[in-house]
Amino acid sequence: MSASIIDGKAFAANLKEKIAGKVKILKEKYDLTPGLAVVLVGEDPASQVYVRNKNKSTKAAGMNSFEYLMDDDVSEEELIKKVNELNNDPNVHGILVQLPLPEHINEAAVIETITPEKDVDGFHVINSGLLATGGKGMVPCTPLGCIMMLKDQLGNLSGLDAVVVGRSNIVGKPMAQLLLNESCTVTIAHSRTKDLPDVVGRADIVVAAVGVPELVKGNWIKKGATVIDVGINRIQKNDGKTKLVGDVEFAVAAERAAAITPVPGGVGPMTIAVLLQNTVTAACRSMGIDEPN
Ligand code: NDP
Repeated sequence: MSASIIDGKAFAANLKEKIAGKVKILKEKYDLTPGLAVVLVGEDPASQVYVRNKNKSTKAAGMNSFEYLMDDDVSEEELIKKVNELNNDPNVHGILVQLPLPEHINEAAVIETITPEKDVDGFHVINSGLLATGGKGMVPCTPLGCIMMLKDQLGNLSGLDAVVVGRSNIVGKPMAQLLLNESCTVTIAHSRTKDLPDVVGRADIVVAAVGVPELVKGNWIKKGATVIDVGINRIQKNDGKTKLVGDVEFAVAAERAAAITPVPGGVGPMTIAVLLQNTVTAACRSMGIDEPN
């Protein structure tokens, strides 16, 4: 293996430590404790794990964590009422409604109810619009974590060819926008892209956010490229046990890339750290104060 491994776990731990330092200053100087409210509907086991981890990390950073568990059959109206309560609660600076929601609830309607300034997931259309037009909104956590790691690895991204595989509203599109904001030349690939190997093979930066195990083959990667693997896929091994793999064929890609994120331990840990960072940002903005460094 020639690539250096981008250690998302260490990066996230470092970021969380910085956030805890900021929270300490905000408490001492402004009597401000950033608060994150997480709403979970139903009992999806994966979502329960995410919410538990968010709760733990929020508290560890010295912030307030508010958790609301709602039954699977809660009505859209009731959920929206809860979001509105949180919108009006001055102790809540960030609101996250854990997705996916049950089918009878219109996800977009719920997300649009969140006050954009408290939308720490950055999924509200106002925040998508601000990201696209260079405004100061909330940026989705996973792509923001990816761009932080890329800048740490490469420094200035200006002029680099970047390919994002995947065009979802929560990862692919905001990722492409962030790369464009860094003056990369950006290509967005998706399921209808012709000759994906050729498109990927031209990129200095490859971000894979597809949800298909090892779709991006290692030998597609240009020598010396930086590879960010957002995918989290659980697959069955020959012995019947399961393991997590990304969207990139890691072992072969690592022979060609200059740097690559592993799965697990790459992008995943960054997402929660950035969520905390977004909550601190939202809290500071709500008070009209500069964020501590
Ligand atoms: P979506 O299913 O919403 O989007 C997947 C995208 O991949 C679509 O744009 C789709 O194209 C594209 N795609 C699917 N098949 C192919 C193919 N054969 N060739 C090229 N493109 C293809 O997924 P998400 O964006 O929500 O998530 C992507 C992955 O990232 C998942 O594994 C998810 O678990 C992971 N994830 C990880 C996070 C983290 O914290 N690390 C956070 C969020 C997601 P089309 O639009 O044409 O259908």
